[in-house]
Amino acid sequence: MFKIRPHHLMCMQAYIGKGYSKDFIENMDFIVKSLKENQNQIIQIVGLNDDICTKCPNNINGFKCSSNDKVLSIDGKIVKLLDLKMEEYNYKTLLEKLRENFSEERFKEICGKCQWYKYGICEKIFKEKGFI
Ligand code: SF4
Repeated sequence: MFKIRPHHLMCMQAYIGKGYSKDFIENMDFIVKSLKENQNQIIQIVGLNDDICTKCPNNINGFKCSSNDKVLSIDGKIVKLLDLKMEEYNYKTLLEKLRENFSEERFKEICGKCQWYKYGICEKIFKEKGFI
């Protein structure tokens, strides 16, 4: 079971092997590959740092991000959009929720202030995968 914070549900869909450090990328590769191979895994939604943050250089003492206010704000928007609780979910169910509720307008509103937004990679991939 992976512990995942809300906005990482989206980041994982647009992930193309780029990230903050070698350790971060290796860990993210492992999680994304594992979930792609078996979408019936259980995900525990968490409100703070998760299994992706664990290997991130921006992780402060295991429970905070160096951009904490920004990431908590994005997490909050995803919680609202997908009506999430801090509970366990089947990953496939979370993907279905994302497909049902995400849109181009919501993508801009939720992800617009993320540092990766300006590269246009997420938008391109979300469109290709039919999320927006
Ligand atoms: S610590 Fe911050 S930047 Fe790093 S993965 Fe977690 S939320 Fe993202």
